[in-house]
Amino acid sequence: MKDKITIVGAGLVGSLLAVILKKKGFDVQIFEKRKDPRKSEIAEGRSINLALSHRGIRPLKMAGVFETIEPYLIPMKGRMMHDQAGELTFQPYGKEGQFINSVSRAQLNELLIESAEQAGVDVYFDHKCTDVDFEASTLTFENGKTIQADLIVGTDGAFSAIRKQMQFTDRFNFSQHYIEHGYKELCIEPVDGKFLMEPNYLHIWPRGNFMLIALPNADKTFTCTLFFPFEGTPSFSTLKSREDIDSFFDQYFKDAKDLMPDLVDQFFHNPTSSLVTTKCEPWHKNRSILLGDAAHAIVPFYGQGMNSGFEDVRLFAEMAEAMNWDWDKILPEFSNRRKKDADAILDLALHNFIEMRDHVGDPNFLRRKKLESKIQEQYPKEWIPLYSMVTFSDMPYSEALRLGKIQKQVMDEFLQQEEDEINFSKVMERFNALKQGGWKAGQ
Ligand code: FAD
Repeated sequence: MKDKITIVGAGLVGSLLAVILKKKGFDVQIFEKRKDPRKSEIAEGRSINLALSHRGIRPLKMAGVFETIEPYLIPMKGRMMHDQAGELTFQPYGKEGQFINSVSRAQLNELLIESAEQAGVDVYFDHKCTDVDFEASTLTFENGKTIQADLIVGTDGAFSAIRKQMQFTDRFNFSQHYIEHGYKELCIEPVDGKFLMEPNYLHIWPRGNFMLIALPNADKTFTCTLFFPFEGTPSFSTLKSREDIDSFFDQYFKDAKDLMPDLVDQFFHNPTSSLVTTKCEPWHKNRSILLGDAAHAIVPFYGQGMNSGFEDVRLFAEMAEAMNWDWDKILPEFSNRRKKDADAILDLALHNFIEMRDHVGDPNFLRRKKLESKIQEQYPKEWIPLYSMVTFSDMPYSEALRLGKIQKQVMDEFLQQEEDEINFSKVMERFNALKQGGWKAGQ
């Protein structure tokens, strides 16, 4: 298997794919536009920490790199909600023993690049890809270099150069959408080498149209992210002076503010970033294919961007092996099969923003959660909550989305009844009937 595989982008997805394909015996090289992150003092990149869960862990295990990464993970058992008075409420993510993991994006990327190099992959930094010739299967770089490959994989992120070139080809569909919210990161520093909040939770301050979240880091800091509209009141556009910021945080996030003495300076200093979703179809052209954010960038509210990109890698490698590495057949087949799941997680992620910022503190939402946990107690195998299907299983995202919609409809129907009148076997009967009956919304 001496096919030459060229990967564009040594981010999370590209580096993982390189390890797996190299171990399968291919001649693999990666071209990355940035400098080697292991040699630069300040890690470049977007959010500092990410939530890694089952769909991401499985491909890391497949590549044989999970053991190297595991020591850097901080388990988060659930959401710790902070209300405006600073009262805390815990909501577990799943069953006892289920958790997601906070991991430094920069650290994870470095470990994966290191693993790729150790496996024998050639990684070229400072190589920005500027052009692709899909007919000739060649890539051109900013420095003038041109190379030819048997397979080109674009893992060059949400603003992919490979995808941009596909946009000039016939019958290629592309759309992008910026949501009205942006985000800003803030940091809670440790005191006396200790975390200032409980570390094994994802802390969340839901406030209706906006929210603050905080994930723990191995250095005992918390990275807080404020998801906030660009326009309107309040919004990034209304927080202009030191006093504006001070009184806004006093009003909405007092307990978090008390842990950040330099909050206002951080607010001015740290950038405000936007959030984009992208869709495209097909993901391939001749011998080139897109994976990860390059194919499907989503908002971060389900913690699934990287996880879904890693899952792309696993499914792609499994399918390729099953199809005997026949790229001309694999590329259209993969693009076709995976697309509906990428669309589904895009929708789920957008919807989860509303749930996180708005519903988690809402009494109706909490009633539904209570009902759901009772159903689940009695039918643990048949009724799996949507969050668990997405986060702790390998079920295709499109199926999780479909079942989640059915569950919502069933719960809405039964929540009309008094709590002690609900007959759980009737709930399951209804759920199974809709599930098997080719359910469509509003049925
Ligand atoms: P990227 O990580 O963007 O990597 C692309 C690489 O390609 C980069 O190294 C880039 O330098 C390189 N590149 C770009 N253009 C070129 C070019 N022309 N030539 C050569 N190289 C190029 N996901 C989760 O699963 N869990 C989370 O909790 C989570 N939280 C998030 C929070 C925020 C605020 C954001 C913005 C995202 C979050 N994500 C999360 C999503 C996650 O960061 C992305 O899905 C993931 O980084 C995608 O990986 P990738 O390798 O496809 O792309």
